[in-house]
Amino acid sequence: MDQFIPVNTPIFIGNEKKYLNECIDTGWVSCEGRFVSEFENQLAAYCNRKHGISVSSGTAALEIAIKSLGLCEGDEIIVPSLTIISCSNAIIKNGLVPVLVDSYEDTWNMSVEDIRAKITPKTKAIMMVHLYGLPCLVDEILNIAKEFNLKIIEDAAEMHGQTYRDQPCGGLGDISIFSFYANKHITTGEGGMILTNEDTIADKCRSLRNHCFMSGRRFRHDDIGQNARMTNLQAAVGLAQLETLPQFVERKRTMGNMYTKAFKDLKGVSLPIEQTDYAQNIYWAYGVVLDSEVFPEPEKVMKSLTDAGIGNRPFFWPLHKQPIYQDMGLFSRDSHPVAEKLANYGFYLPSGLSLTKDQINTVIEKFRDVISKHSENI
Ligand SMILES: *Cc1c(COP(=O)(O)O)cnc(C)c1O
Repeated sequence: MDQFIPVNTPIFIGNEKKYLNECIDTGWVSCEGRFVSEFENQLAAYCNRKHGISVSSGTAALEIAIKSLGLCEGDEIIVPSLTIISCSNAIIKNGLVPVLVDSYEDTWNMSVEDIRAKITPKTKAIMMVHLYGLPCLVDEILNIAKEFNLKIIEDAAEMHGQTYRDQPCGGLGDISIFSFYANKHITTGEGGMILTNEDTIADKCRSLRNHCFMSGRRFRHDDIGQNARMTNLQAAVGLAQLETLPQFVERKRTMGNMYTKAFKDLKGVSLPIEQTDYAQNIYWAYGVVLDSEVFPEPEKVMKSLTDAGIGNRPFFWPLHKQPIYQDMGLFSRDSHPVAEKLANYGFYLPSGLSLTKDQINTVIEKFRDVISKHSENI
């Protein structure tokens, strides 16, 4: 059998080793060191933002970004139900209330109509999460934010190199975040970044990521912060990865276009949208959604793929269905049918930057086999 093709493996084709060696040779391995500020400045410039604040993960970025806004206990933040739990946890840990909205069936992103329907006098912000490869309906969401005086927290964790109407994702919110986990377009192993144009928010984020030290006498603190500092080692890798980002974007799009061309004729399989009037898909993960009538047992399709050596992973599990939140009595009256359907019938195929054309062709061949076998059964 061919070797198993995992859903994701990163690639390092630039200055990563050179920069890492510099860290080791000079001894600058913690958060002090030139790569931290260079990575922050260059990513901020790339996204047309004034400030970049590097942190230890995308999750930490969300927590700190929300805290920096200074909202009051009980204030509400609108967030899609279909997203990673980091989003809602960051809201809850800050004493705020996540209010969930459903998603669109075709782009898998949060529904603008549902955002409008969920606004209350307590709503203070919208967490605009771009998922899988296409950005949200940004203009529509920004208009709602303007109308109701809401802050936009942009989660661009899956969008490095993507644009909305030619404006870089990660530069579209009052405050925006990236993740550099190993399956993102740019990785530092673990890591994250907060981006903003606002000086006071940037200062607060810098303070929060490092225990809120006060100036003057050391070891005095003016708020409850944390250690969420990025190391110079991580930033060295991040800077090198940022230099090669244009190539990464091209690879992703080539992969996505190969898959789409090969799967277009498959019945009962929805594919990612290649192009909208605001963006061209970047395929952070190449997702497919099965038709429930043709494939009533999607987990069997996924199992067959795994058995055929093709890695695959289900979409996020909706937040209103999370066991921990059910235990806490949260979202008990929520219903988000599209998010549920996407979670039950959606999964993604190998989408990593290391995929070779041969591997993509193997995925294509095996996926077509598995799909045709399972659609014969009914
Ligand atoms: C990966 C991801 C995060 C979390 O990032 P970590 O670095 O893993 O903490 C947040 N939001 C989205 C949409 C993500 O995909």
